[in-house]
Order: sequence, then structure tokens, then C-alpha cells
Amino acid sequence: MTLSYDQIQALDTRHVWHPFTQAGTAAPAIMAVAAEGATIHAADGRDYLDLVSSWWVNLHGHGHPAIARAIAEQAGRLEQVIFADFTHEPAARLAAAVCGLLPGDLNRAFYSDDGSTAVEVALKLAHQYWRNLGETRGTYIAFEGGYHGDTAGAMSAGHSSGYFSAWKEMLFPVETVPFPATWDGDDEVEAREKASLDALAQAFKRHGGDVAAVIIEPLIQGAAGMRMCRPDFLRALSALVRESGSLLILDEVMTGFGRTGDLFACVKAAITPDLICLSKGLTGGFVPLSMTVARDRIFDAFLGQDLSRAFLHGHSYTANPLGCAAGLASLDLLLADDCRSRRGAIETIHRRRLDRLAGRGKVGRTRLTGTVAALDVGGSGEGYGAEVAPRLKSAFLKRGLLLRPLGNVLYLLPPYCITEAELDRAWDAVEEVLEDL
Ligand SMILES: *Cc1c(COP(=O)(O)O)cnc(C)c1O
Repeated sequence: MTLSYDQIQALDTRHVWHPFTQAGTAAPAIMAVAAEGATIHAADGRDYLDLVSSWWVNLHGHGHPAIARAIAEQAGRLEQVIFADFTHEPAARLAAAVCGLLPGDLNRAFYSDDGSTAVEVALKLAHQYWRNLGETRGTYIAFEGGYHGDTAGAMSAGHSSGYFSAWKEMLFPVETVPFPATWDGDDEVEAREKASLDALAQAFKRHGGDVAAVIIEPLIQGAAGMRMCRPDFLRALSALVRESGSLLILDEVMTGFGRTGDLFACVKAAITPDLICLSKGLTGGFVPLSMTVARDRIFDAFLGQDLSRAFLHGHSYTANPLGCAAGLASLDLLLADDCRSRRGAIETIHRRRLDRLAGRGKVGRTRLTGTVAALDVGGSGEGYGAEVAPRLKSAFLKRGLLLRPLGNVLYLLPPYCITEAELDRAWDAVEEVLEDL
């Protein structure tokens, strides 16, 4: 039985609960029927240019044939297998390939399903690492505004993001220190970085040897509104954490796999964390998969004869072969020369268009890291609920652009396959919409 689009829409309206959506006021969801490259085709015949990479996951374009083929071939051979006592080629190869691209001795990948669970795993590994060494460490330190996902531990680490007030009572306390957000033409960044590092040093002092780990989204705080910091700050931060004897967790769920220009933000900043969380771009945006990669000494602390020293954590679909096969195909595309040059071209266009907008009415702070460009509409700090957000979103949808602001922050985070003409068209629309506001 085939259903008409109206019938499908009615089923959705009656039975589906959408994320981050107030169903009481939301317009019916746009029905996607197909997509290729940077374009999503909707059931009503309209096309949308995907400038947010479908929630920051898509790298090489929708429906990329190489990734689609890898998934189909894998599905015909081995679709899923329990990952305790069993392994398979795509999981082993993908773990080795990602570890090979990461700095230092980040050699051990633990698979899970999405960004939130990758963070949850990192927090739990840090806790048990200390326990296995005979210490109890209960304090975590995070950065103001940081977002780490929607599960309980990740929400606790991200409590200052403002997204989680409905669950305040179910979170565990996490210390926060200021994030030294910076922007084009910012001439006080050094003072802000110093204040942040001082606050961190104070927190280490206050908690003595109780700090299990420090967690940060390196170079770009995504959900906080594409707030960016400098590589120099991360280097100083890493040295301070090292000196304290605690662990450093980098949440590269969004920044990984080329977003910041380099393959990973830690590569760009030349630092090696103890644990790194990867997801979103890991499969090129095709299927959910994540990994938390640990340094050798973290893994070694879980070795022994005793099961209680082991990491007794896992998910039904851990290391799903379809996800791993997609990950391998996506990595091949990512490492090709033309992908690097495409990312460079995106950054060049972003720079030119941001510079053209800077100083115009309604354009506040502009900023750019790699393929991610952002600007504040009006003043900064109006937050996720800014009243301008829905107006901007619908103005862009009307123009066939999927460009979904975070509060009053407008950002472009396109798939790497976007053409220069498509990207210029998007920036033209940004200029127009800001003009008409
Ligand atoms: C999206 C995101 C997460 C959560 O990932 P999910 O796949 O949505 O669970 C965690 N950390 C960062 C930095 C993210 O951008």
C-alpha cells in the first residue's frame, strides 16, 4: 500500500514526537523524500540547501554513492553482531584508522552510539580510571556554556548551557569556569583567556586531588552559539591540566573530521588529550556511531585479573558493522586531497563574506574557524530563546535554505561538497534577510 504525502503527514502529526520541538505551536514538519549533495528534496516539490549539515553530521553530501555502497555491501555480509567476545573487520580497521590520525598514544577506541554516549563513556572512564588506581575522584570541571549531549552525565557536564533547567534536580554537580570566547577584531582576548586559566587553577586548588577530569569542546562551543576560542588557549589549558595531574577530555563530537580545517581540533591546537569523544561526522552523517578514544595509560589502568577492574559498560549496537563500514568509506573521502581543498575553499568564501558583512547594521560579532562561520544578529548573549530566531529560520526556509539559528546566532556549517555557487547563494540570502529584518 502506498501512502499519499498527506497521509504520511497525518501519521507523523498523530504519532511522532519530534526533538527540541513544541508540538503545540510548531508548523507541520517538512517531509524530506530524497537528498543528494547539499540539497534536500521535500515532498511538496521544494528543495532546501543544507547549510547546517543536517545537525552537523553530514560531511561529503547526502547520498554519497561511495558511503551508500559500503553500507549496502556490509549489510549483505554482516549487519550486526554482539561485540563482547566477537569482533569484525570494519570495527578493527576503523579503530586503527582513527587512532592513526589522532596525536600521541590515543590508541584505544571504545565504540558507542552517539555523541551523548561518547561523552558518558569518557566521564565514566575517567571516574573508574582513578578508582582503579586506588583514588576516589568525584569532581568534574567544564566550561561555561558548554554542551555535551542529552544523557544525564552529559547534561551535568553541560548544565551551564541553559538547555537543561527542566532536569536540574537529576544532575550531579559539575564545576564551571569561564570560556574565553573570541571573535574577529577582539582585542581583549588575552585578558579573558588569563581569567579563564586563573579560574581553572583556583578550581584545582579548591578541589585538591579530587578532580577526575576537565572537559571542553575544543576551538568551538557548538550549541552555545558557535563560540570560538584560540588554539593558544587550548595549549595553555592542556599544560595546566597536565600540571594538576588530572585528565583532559576533548569533546570533538562536532569539531572532529575536518570541521575546524584540520582533521581534529586537537591537531590544530597541537595538544593530546587523555580522552577524545567523536561522533557526528564519524560515518559521514549516514548512521549513528561514536567512539571514545583513550590513551594507552588509561586503557592499561583497566587491565588485571579481576572483572571489577574492567570497564563494564556497553550498548546493544556497540560497533555496529554498518556504521563502521560507513566510517571507513567516509574517512577515505575525508583524506582525499580534494576534500582538503574544498574545506579551504569554504573557509575562503566564509572569510570574504563575513568581512563584507562586518560593521553593517544588525551584524554583531563575526567569527570563523575552518568550515564554521558565525555572526551575532544584534547584541550578543540573547540566548537560545531569542525572539529573532524563528523569524530568521522561516525567512531562510522561504528562500530554500536550511539555516537554523541558535538564538540570535546565525551560522553556516555546510557539508564539504557544497559548491562555491551554492555557498555564495546562501551568503547572498543572509545579506538580504539581515537587510529586511
Ligand atoms: C551534538 C553534540 C553532542 C551530543 O551528540 P548526540 O549525537 O546529539 O548525542 C555532544 N557534544 C557536542 C560538542 C555536540 O555538538
